[in-house]
Amino acid sequence: MTIPSAEDHHPWYVTTSLPYVNGRPHLGHALEFILTDALARYHRLTGDQVWFLTGTDENSLKNVRAAEREGIPTQALVDRNAAYFRGLRELLNLSYDDFIRTSNDPRHLDGVRKLWDACAQRGDIYKRAYRGLYCVGCEQFYSEAELSAGCCPVHLTRPEVVEEENYFFRLSHYADRLRDLIVSDQVHIVPLARKNEALSFIRRGLEDFSISRSRARARDWGVPVPGDAQQVMYVWFDALGNYITALDYAGNGSLYQRFWMQNPHRTHVIGKDIQRFHTIYWPALLLSAGVPLPTSIFVHGFITLEGGKMSKSVGNILDPGALVERYGTDALRYYLLREIRATEDGDFSLERFIRTYNGDLADQLGNLLNRVVTMVSRYAGGVVPAPGAREEIDQRLVNAAEGLRERVERAMSQFVPHEALGAIWELVSATNKYVAEVEPWTLAKQRKAGPERVASAERLATILYNLTEALRLLAHYCIPFLPTTAEILARQLGVTLETSGDWTQVSRWGGYLAGTAVQPGGVLFPKLELLGES
Ligand SMILES: [Zn+2]
Repeated sequence: MTIPSAEDHHPWYVTTSLPYVNGRPHLGHALEFILTDALARYHRLTGDQVWFLTGTDENSLKNVRAAEREGIPTQALVDRNAAYFRGLRELLNLSYDDFIRTSNDPRHLDGVRKLWDACAQRGDIYKRAYRGLYCVGCEQFYSEAELSAGCCPVHLTRPEVVEEENYFFRLSHYADRLRDLIVSDQVHIVPLARKNEALSFIRRGLEDFSISRSRARARDWGVPVPGDAQQVMYVWFDALGNYITALDYAGNGSLYQRFWMQNPHRTHVIGKDIQRFHTIYWPALLLSAGVPLPTSIFVHGFITLEGGKMSKSVGNILDPGALVERYGTDALRYYLLREIRATEDGDFSLERFIRTYNGDLADQLGNLLNRVVTMVSRYAGGVVPAPGAREEIDQRLVNAAEGLRERVERAMSQFVPHEALGAIWELVSATNKYVAEVEPWTLAKQRKAGPERVASAERLATILYNLTEALRLLAHYCIPFLPTTAEILARQLGVTLETSGDWTQVSRWGGYLAGTAVQPGGVLFPKLELLGES
């Protein structure tokens, strides 16, 4: 792990939530990791100094039960399953800087003890007897009113009655401050509907919540409460702490200083099912501990599979590994980032996946690259010529390309990558339309004979340059979303990608160096057969 040191770059910190590791990763996990990765890569591209954290939440009672069912030690189960999640780095081409595991990382164990002590010193932790209805699947207590027909609304199973002495956190003390911080967007919850949900949760009244359980009920698994060997921390207290413990909150280290204390951009990406923990409990714990709060919390929706419910707990799982093996990482990234509106629920349908792949990736982008590189080879000996004077049609393409930066910036700052990709694909189709309108093949014939010879040759040179330059820009715009595609585009165009350079300069029209040789390669995104066709 190299700690970045450049002082002239703005820090930008982003985290995924930590998945439970009682099973293998499914498509819903892939969605969150890919969303977060696109944000991290985008900020690096624009020159920010990014720290992207992910990891695994391992101290859950669910893991204990899963291990019992398999007849193996809990640590062995979490070690094995954590490796599946870590393996998503290669599978999904993730660019995380750090991966924390809550069951065995000393940074984490020391950090959450420090967090507990800080809240206790503030007088916000006390012990009392408690009787409640607990869903192990959710790892949370439910009130009678929250149940549906006596069952957990998520798992549709009957919660267990749990009665014991636990430590409680004085959440009730923080209602007013939390409301003010959320209303004023000092903790900026995206989208607005989720912000309103958090506010309405506060309005209904915040009750103190249990932050420990007995060691016996936890089967001796979890982080012991400081000073009380009979209790372990409630898994959420410990799991939420990872966002700062991974930065070395315990040692007040340089990463913690750089990316938490002195950084105005502390972003959590989470799913809507765990928003209460992140928008209410976590900020309250930090207020109590005297630690700055996250500045943005981006809440994404769920993904359904072929219109049905997609949740590990109900057993409806789609393995992202199988999709990647068959169609490639960037094809999956494209679908999840473009076809699913990140702030809402979205559906994954194989038929739509293949149509999107064929339409946007094969017919539009893949075909454009192939045509341009072929034309440069055929009409210009493989070397991109210098452009001559611009005509109005050229200027329209230049304007479209130069206007893209602002549109992508706006979309990414609002956490709507599908709009960024939509804007980028408008440039792809504008460039395809440009080819059809300027007809380079006609100019290639005219330059050989007739009175228009010289003018046609110069016009053709301008067009070939413009096409190559549009593709150079598209290669850079693809970096956050389709990193491998960006590399393939760059390689065939004969350019080097600037992944963390001067973005204003890189995104300006005219960066392609005339006289560069293109490097024709294989077909980018070969077409797929539609389902049912043979
Ligand atoms: Zn549940």
